[in-house]
Amino acid sequence: MITSKNPYTGEVVEEFKEYTKEEVNAAIERADNRFKTWRKVSYDEKRDLMLNAAKELRENQRAYAEDITTEMGKPISQAMAEIEKCAWVCEYYAENAKDHLANETIETDAQKSYVSYEPIGVVLAIMPWNYPFWQAFRYAVPALMAGNIGLLKHASNVMRSANNIQKVFENAGFPKDCFQNLVISSSKIDDILKDDRVKAVTLTGSKPAGSAVASTAGSKIKKSVLELGGSNALVVFKDANIQKTVETCVQARYQNTGQSCIAGKRLLLHESIEDQFMEEFVKQVKDLKSGDPMDEDTYIGTLAREDLAEDLEAQVKDSVEKGAKIVLGGKRNKAYYEPTILTNVTKGMRVFDEETFGPAISVTTFKENQEAIDLVNYSDFGLGVSIFTEDFDFAEGIISEFEDGAVFVNELVKSDPRLPFGGTKISGYGRELSSHGIQEFVNRKTVYFN
Ligand code: NDP
Repeated sequence: MITSKNPYTGEVVEEFKEYTKEEVNAAIERADNRFKTWRKVSYDEKRDLMLNAAKELRENQRAYAEDITTEMGKPISQAMAEIEKCAWVCEYYAENAKDHLANETIETDAQKSYVSYEPIGVVLAIMPWNYPFWQAFRYAVPALMAGNIGLLKHASNVMRSANNIQKVFENAGFPKDCFQNLVISSSKIDDILKDDRVKAVTLTGSKPAGSAVASTAGSKIKKSVLELGGSNALVVFKDANIQKTVETCVQARYQNTGQSCIAGKRLLLHESIEDQFMEEFVKQVKDLKSGDPMDEDTYIGTLAREDLAEDLEAQVKDSVEKGAKIVLGGKRNKAYYEPTILTNVTKGMRVFDEETFGPAISVTTFKENQEAIDLVNYSDFGLGVSIFTEDFDFAEGIISEFEDGAVFVNELVKSDPRLPFGGTKISGYGRELSSHGIQEFVNRKTVYFN
């Protein structure tokens, strides 16, 4: 049985019977068969179906959002926003996929030569619980619009949402088996990946999971895309607009109760603005309202599982033993972890070196700008960085110094269907969203007429 448990109440939400080996095999067979017809469906037809999916999401926004909140403790207002964002990505690719994948003429010696982008077949997605709908939609929508078929292995603690996602596509009128949720634990993944009918895999989650999946995919020479989290820095230079920057940094760290790959986890402050910044920052974090995730005005819910809160507690405790100072929070109650601020943080402490997946921020100061750049790049992760300065020429000048997949100036790192999303180093490889994302799982076929 796969169990979905409400992390706020501790109650079991639902139990799901795991698919047998035979049921998994039958699902893959149906997916493979569906590809034979789906790959020929016109963009206009796919566009209409995807617009139906956006409509389905908006019409049932509250119900889908409540299931997210119940299963993983996300405050309801943020779950509602997540559903809306999924509708946006449906509309974005409905309108743009045809252009993204249009033949690309290239002048050569040939009478005619071009690249055509063709679907590859069944793409498996292994997805996490932190944005149960969004993570799955940002893979599924471009995959389907490209003519591929989706198979989802979702995180075990959000299986109701996983079934809901399949329902969205069914209710939108997509042909049966274009998108299926597999009710399985991760022990079944290896066999699925090795199956010849499954052509590629995308995973969002932790490094151990990504490494295991990419190894198996590599052994079968299958394409993989990995999005493995981050430890983004928020770098505040001395000329930053303090008031605006504080607000952005609070949101960057504490939204989704800190459980976001692109959250700003390491705050780097120029020493000259430390006192002024921290006074306002501590005040705003204190004001964040914790409570029942179903309440409209709750901003901080519980973490998605108690063990995740325990992990964060251990990272903070270890860092405090090494000299970090708790200036706010630091206590856990079951799956709830207080919004926490740690100062005096240095390299070598777990909260600086590792990904912290919850509402705790590390604060470090710097004297020279180069020191800040080095601290950003010190991380093994490379998903993104936010820098705050009023001097755009200065910002432009240092962008190439950062090793990350994204640099946002005076803004938190965020995903947007129109922009590519992905990391470097142990944050993974490949890109999601935009034209870059939809072109990951296609055969870029070279065509040459002489
Ligand atoms: P996992 O990486 O374990 O889970 C993510 C997905 O991968 C789930 O569907 C999970 O299935 C699956 N999975 C886990 N292990 C394997 C494996 N060996 N082979 C194939 N699939 C696997 O994340 P956790 O839930 O344990 O969270 C731990 C940490 O991971 C977090 O604290 C955070 O640092 C990071 N993380 C990053 C995310 C991101 O957005 N990049 C999202 C979630 C977590 P199942 O649930 O059945 O185990």
